[in-house]
Amino acid sequence: MTSHPTTPQTAPRTTTYTVRSIPPAALAQLRVTDDAGLPCAPYEDTEGGAPLRCCLRRSRAGERIALVSYAPLRRWAAERWARPGAYDEQGPVFVHAEECGGPREATAYPFSRPGALRTVRRYDSEGRIVGGRLLEIPEAADEGFDQAFAEAFADPEVALVHVRAVEHGCFLFEVRRP
Ligand SMILES: [Zn+2]
Repeated sequence: MTSHPTTPQTAPRTTTYTVRSIPPAALAQLRVTDDAGLPCAPYEDTEGGAPLRCCLRRSRAGERIALVSYAPLRRWAAERWARPGAYDEQGPVFVHAEECGGPREATAYPFSRPGALRTVRRYDSEGRIVGGRLLEIPEAADEGFDQAFAEAFADPEVALVHVRAVEHGCFLFEVRRP
């Protein structure tokens, strides 16, 4: 066996745009009281498959999770004195009930089963909706997302986008202008 270094054959590709999950400080708050003011109610997920917005993967049977109400613009807006007003929506998200270490570096966009429908909703620097588009995730899922994000950020007004599931309307993850 030779031991001289070889060039790595399959360095994992990272996504073109940085995928943002719910930040740790927000998770810590949500695990006590959610953005609707309700106490967090953890339970054991007996089936698995819940899309976890803390670490951007699906839950496994037996994990402790919670369904909480989350306002994905709220903390972003507070940090920069943006005023999203009525656009500061909140909605249901699954998270781990306890600290989970968050996502590992994304080598693919999460929750990207081909055929699934997504909304890529665009927001300006004040947190106001400035459009959006429907994305049916293609077989080449990463390329499909890359294209949708490139299209969104081609509009100079767009500061960030939220990817949402169409059927339930719920927030999945965020991408900011690179
Ligand atoms: Zn997690």
